[in-house]
Amino acid sequence: MTVSAIRPGADRTGRTAHGGARSATARAHGKINLHLGVGDAGADGYHQLVTVFAALGCAETVTLTEAAEDSVALTGRYAHAEVPLDGSNLALAAVQAFRERTGWDARVALTIDKQVPVAGGMGGGSADAAAALRAAAALAGFDDRGALHEIAATLGADVPFALRGGVALGRGRGDQLTPVLAQGTQHWVLATSTGALSTPLVYRRLDELRAERGTAAGGRAAGEGGAAAGAGASGTDGFRQLRLAEPTAVLAALASGSVEDLAAAVHNDMTQAAVTLLPDVAHVMEQGERAGALAVLLSGSGPTVGFLAQNATHALELAVLLEASRGVREVVRTTGPARGAHLVE
Ligand code: ATP
Repeated sequence: MTVSAIRPGADRTGRTAHGGARSATARAHGKINLHLGVGDAGADGYHQLVTVFAALGCAETVTLTEAAEDSVALTGRYAHAEVPLDGSNLALAAVQAFRERTGWDARVALTIDKQVPVAGGMGGGSADAAAALRAAAALAGFDDRGALHEIAATLGADVPFALRGGVALGRGRGDQLTPVLAQGTQHWVLATSTGALSTPLVYRRLDELRAERGTAAGGRAAGEGGAAAGAGASGTDGFRQLRLAEPTAVLAALASGSVEDLAAAVHNDMTQAAVTLLPDVAHVMEQGERAGALAVLLSGSGPTVGFLAQNATHALELAVLLEASRGVREVVRTTGPARGAHLVE
């Protein structure tokens, strides 16, 4: 409980109420995982991760307006029916968690302008939660960043990163973050999919694939670069435990700003599991390779695929070539890294 961090009357929205409802608007960005190494599932069902997050230009904008009761409304390119409007909406869940932690008691009307593809592995819901937290903190005059990060971690593994932005190394569930030095701007083309993949299903499929190879909850699957078998370590179930490889090459490429080195280093352990569940993903990846992408990378658990381009012109060429590809719903050009959740006018 960090009630003391709330300063009554401190309106960081910069707006005066004048009898009208007070509101605050915040923006948070979608992400791609430049490296996603997946280890064993813990007793809580969460897999251990070593990941490198990079925030991308496409962003969600969340407005909170004090109201008699809570409500959620969606606008924007991805205002899809599958996004819940009740308490299970991650932005509203974030407001609820913020109230419980801080004692703030306002009800809010939320408007979410959705510009990050839904259920695409790009953390759109997590960005909504992060933006809602930032806006609620502004309305409440709450300035304890550490507490905000803790609330974020209770909402989902990707929410702390959406709050922080930039480029960061994530461990644990992905919520233990260390900032990463990153030079330059990366140009990405994202191809959203005509199919859908649920994140828990892709994790389950990955576990199955590893089990089929006889490595069960441990061991390195063929073609995986993100996890290495532990040197003889045995788990209580008799299986080898997974030792996650460090994304050293990705970190070095980011530090030097070399897009070619980054292209050679990016990796996602979820790729094969996603492809076996949704074979069109493999087709889209091949099309991007043929079109000359520097790197082809599944975004999180997919099915969105990211294609790394040399520069803005190259990104435009790739986008045109990918647009007609089977399995592609739409193509989005964006750049990274982008900032963390922040207030907007
Ligand atoms: P994750 O990898 O975190 O599961 P994702 O990045 O693949 O998510 P999201 O766009 O975050 O995809 O949506 C995942 C699911 O979360 C949606 O299908 C939806 O049912 C649910 N959801 C809850 N709140 C939101 C929200 N505010 N925006 C989008 N989806 C939400």
